Amino acid sequence: KAKAEGGARTTFFEAAMGEAVEQRFRVERELRQAIAQGDLRCHLQSQVRADGQLVGAEALVRWAHPERGLVPPAVFVPIAEMSDLVVALDRWMLAQVCQLLVRLDRQGLALRLSVNISPRHFQRSDFVDSVRLQLADSGADPARLVLEVTEGMVMGDLAEAVRKMTELSALGLHFSMDDFGTGYSSLAYLKRLPISELKIDKSFVQDATSNPQDAALVDTILAVARQLHLQVVAEGVETPEQAAFLDQRGEVARQGYLYGRPEPMDAWLARVAPTAPASLQA
Ligand code: C2E
Ligand code: MG
Ligand code: MG
Ligand code: MG
Repeated sequence: KAKAEGGARTTFFEAAMGEAVEQRFRVERELRQAIAQGDLRCHLQSQVRADGQLVGAEALVRWAHPERGLVPPAVFVPIAEMSDLVVALDRWMLAQVCQLLVRLDRQGLALRLSVNISPRHFQRSDFVDSVRLQLADSGADPARLVLEVTEGMVMGDLAEAVRKMTELSALGLHFSMDDFGTGYSSLAYLKRLPISELKIDKSFVQDATSNPQDAALVDTILAVARQLHLQVVAEGVETPEQAAFLDQRGEVARQGYLYGRPEPMDAWLARVAPTAPASLQA
């Protein structure tokens, strides 16, 4: 039964991603409603240090669709990104993350939370002010917040990207370059951006143990990070072999199914802070 439902879901969204414009608008309309009705969910996936110590988590959006179940972002974020809907989505997620930061802080847990920022959101002229406002409204400690950006979004107008990131960095928050190595990165650009972390894309991490070229790419990214004094998070670590590969390379933080899948915020919170009062989410 689950398989049949999954199949139906795939067809619906695949159609939406294809040529059919009405389908796209239908998903857009449903998604707009979903955001308004509170049908988005904030899931969290732990990030750990090389020694297994929990350092924080990445927030990942899900859509709790009344008929189609929990829909993964790959099938609706691209549609959201075609309009300002993604801005509403990102802001909702940032609000969840800020609230959770406040709660973690009250528990005395010095964990950091990462949240994805879409290019469309980042490129808005009110991006800096709106993040600043969300931080102020929530009372979250900016020093515990990491904004994940991608290579493409900062390349367009580099000076403008540097300006925005510098302004927000001054509040204490951090920037992380997501999916590093898959975009059009230039090392010269990387040097100019006020980022503090690179996330090695899971495609390199996962193939590093079987393909010497991917292993060499991971080593190159680690060397760049060392030179530029950037932290590193390896994405998509699934097997002990992949973990061992990273262990041989010193202090590399990780995120992946081996350490934990994305899970609902309440479940994650109950695990990392068993004494915290329950229910953050509707
Ligand atoms: P991302 O930011 O690169 O997130 C990492 C993705 O890798 C997540 O997929 C996560 O579930 C998956 N992952 C983590 N560990 C493993 C592993 O060991 N193996 C495999 N195969 N996958 C792993 P997810 O949650 O489906 O998200 C996909 C993408 O959707 C994200 O990629 C991000 O680009 C986007 N996204 C998610 N949430 C948001 C959001 O709130 N706002 C925006 N703008 N984009 C989001
Ligand atoms: Mg990310
Ligand atoms: Mg990523
Ligand atoms: Mg990715």
